[in-house]
Amino acid sequence: MEEGLLFVISGPSGAGKGTVCKRILEELDIDLSVSMTTRKPREGEVHGVSYYFVSQDEFRERIEADGFFEYAQVYDNFYGTPKQMVMEQLAKGRDVLLEIDTQGALNVKAAYPDGVAIFLLPPSLPELRRRLTGRGTETPEAVERRLSETRKEISCMKEYDYCVVNDDLEEAVDRVVSIIKAEHSRVSRGVQDLMKRYEEEV
Ligand code: 5GP
Repeated sequence: MEEGLLFVISGPSGAGKGTVCKRILEELDIDLSVSMTTRKPREGEVHGVSYYFVSQDEFRERIEADGFFEYAQVYDNFYGTPKQMVMEQLAKGRDVLLEIDTQGALNVKAAYPDGVAIFLLPPSLPELRRRLTGRGTETPEAVERRLSETRKEISCMKEYDYCVVNDDLEEAVDRVVSIIKAEHSRVSRGVQDLMKRYEEEV
């Protein structure tokens, strides 16, 4: 059986990764990986759905047991993609979607070059400032810290396979859906199976 494909959606916080990923799950048959984090749940977040919320000790134990596909420290907390689910789903032929920060995305590209990394950009820095402030969850200092982090993250964009500006949500979702579909038609993927089929038909 052909392996599934791994897609990584990354980019600065406030770019709209979460919203875009939610819409992708509505449009395509793809599995979203649920990350593990040491941060506290926000209101409405459910353990096992939004994240697996764990203690620092539990997170450390999993690092030592080589249980992460990738992990990173984002601001003051740790976030990681549990390895087992990703590997199992890919082996079953399922596509897997990761919504992770930019350090994590670059680590995935280094360790798993077959993964497809998509950089999601906010329309502009003033618009990003508006989005971050509008959330009401960040102090003004935290907003400034995130904006300066964003400038650094944008400088790593060339390491990605694709970049999509999230100016209009539906337009951005359409583009990501097109990228995922196009990756399945890449000649470098699964050509053997396709050639075999045509040889058998002659
Ligand atoms: P938040 O705390 O707002 O949910 O997420 C903060 C940042 O951590 C976001 O950029 C999010 O994409 C990223 N993140 C969430 N899960 C993971 C993960 O498993 N690995 C990495 N590297 N980053 C993650």
